[in-house]
Amino acid sequence: MSAPDEEPANPAHALFEHFIRARQCQEVLSCFAELCHQLGLRGNGLQLYHSLKAALNFWSAKALWIKLDKKAGHKDYDQGTACASTKCLVVGAGPCGLRTAIELALLGARVVVLEKRDSFSRNNVLHLWPFTIHDLRALGAKKFYGRFCTGTLDHISIRQLQLILLKVALLLGVEVHTKVQFKGLHPPTGKAAGQGGWRAVLQPSSSPLSHYEFDVLISAGGGKFVPEDFKRKEMRGKLAIGITTNFINRHSRAEVEVAEISGVARIYNQKFFQNLYNKTGIDLENIVYYKDDTHYFVMTAKKQSLLKKGVILEDKADIESLLSPDNVNRDALLSYAKEAANFSTNYCLPELEFALNHRNQPDVDMFDFTCMTRSENAALVREHNGARLLLGLVGDCLVEPFWPLGTGVARGFLAAFDAAWMVRRWAAGTPPLEVLAERESIYQHLSQTSPDNTNKNITQYSIDPTTRYPNLNLQAIRPSQVRDFYLVGKVE
Ligand code: FAD
Repeated sequence: MSAPDEEPANPAHALFEHFIRARQCQEVLSCFAELCHQLGLRGNGLQLYHSLKAALNFWSAKALWIKLDKKAGHKDYDQGTACASTKCLVVGAGPCGLRTAIELALLGARVVVLEKRDSFSRNNVLHLWPFTIHDLRALGAKKFYGRFCTGTLDHISIRQLQLILLKVALLLGVEVHTKVQFKGLHPPTGKAAGQGGWRAVLQPSSSPLSHYEFDVLISAGGGKFVPEDFKRKEMRGKLAIGITTNFINRHSRAEVEVAEISGVARIYNQKFFQNLYNKTGIDLENIVYYKDDTHYFVMTAKKQSLLKKGVILEDKADIESLLSPDNVNRDALLSYAKEAANFSTNYCLPELEFALNHRNQPDVDMFDFTCMTRSENAALVREHNGARLLLGLVGDCLVEPFWPLGTGVARGFLAAFDAAWMVRRWAAGTPPLEVLAERESIYQHLSQTSPDNTNKNITQYSIDPTTRYPNLNLQAIRPSQVRDFYLVGKVE
């Protein structure tokens, strides 16, 4: 056994340390595959976790096993047997897909995650509510990312969050496949083996996962990907144009000293916005600044100031044409974002240099928040040839968040826990309409949740919704009201 300050001599220990420190999605996956190969481990699920634990019995790994064992010991998981014969497919390795996959793995299900991309590239920073910080610590976040929420920090870049969750998911035996896109469902064709279960239509179609049969599908494909059977509700507000930008953080003393802005909304600080407008012509509704791997800013800008500053070339009635790339002067957008960042930090961030995005371009983007969508229902059941499939939505795919309010990943995690609870009820043999009715009763609460109106005792949070939502009526919606969410017959 090596001492804390020595490089581990055992090659498997060294591989484990490399895995823990890996900073790219593909590096994590290849390192994990190599580690399993080195240890002669195959298979998946909690069995793999237990084998890893037995094989990596050195001080550094042990600290993580203690945390994960504590988590896995919660009564909701029935010692990893609650969903032992359930097979799940999770679409999307964003934070919410991965967080759901972890819960399903802890319940003992077989879990496969599909991700169409091959990298985690989003620098943008997510606000974390106290319960998400507590939750991530309990999964060992600090072990994977030493700077995780140090001091009073309550945010993390999307990329770092995905890396942490990917590592935990792999250790718990989740199978993660990148560069595979989910295109639709393939219903059971008969009763014989290989024909009797639901499968996925994938791209590339040659993917061996096309043969994987599953009884639960969790869609966590983000705001742009929602399975067809789910209807979307549009919530159209007043015109809201969001701008995000990231600058390189060199972690110099001067940078460290600049204060973050955790949400300056116009109504609270009229003077700040008036000064900004008078000095620069930039007119904002709100601005947030977080310091993480990058200096990250998100702001909502008024259309007139974007037109005046030449960011938007021509005024147009519909927002899609207004923000289409050919109506935006990118250089003017970069200047606008940089000027807003400089002013709001009192010109104290030296040498602001744009961080690059995955296209190797300055990381500045403009988004439309005027029309946000949410799914009408959180789950449904499909039945064909006697085989049932439970489908659930989580994350942005369920409810699109308004980023400057910082609700996204917190509500995303709440929905991930709710979805896992639903799968637990499903695996326990609860009648499908009861499962759906309960899921919709819980879903009614999601859009109103805030750190103030969810249960204060965050250490007690679990997938059981009663630990998180006060005054929850699990029967608010009756099974007879969700009959439309039980679809019988072929997929169109
Ligand atoms: P996502 O993080 O969007 O993950 C969905 C994943 O599914 C993606 O990796 C995608 O590649 C994959 N996928 C989609 N379709 C398929 C398919 N058919 N098959 C396989 N895989 C698929 N929130 C903020 O609060 N502040 C921000 O500044 C901010 N910036 C963002 C910038 C971008 C470009 C995007 C897309 C989102 C941003 N968000 C931001 C939203 C935030 O990332 C989400 O709220 C949070 O990550 C939780 O999302 P999720 O896991 O539900 O979905």
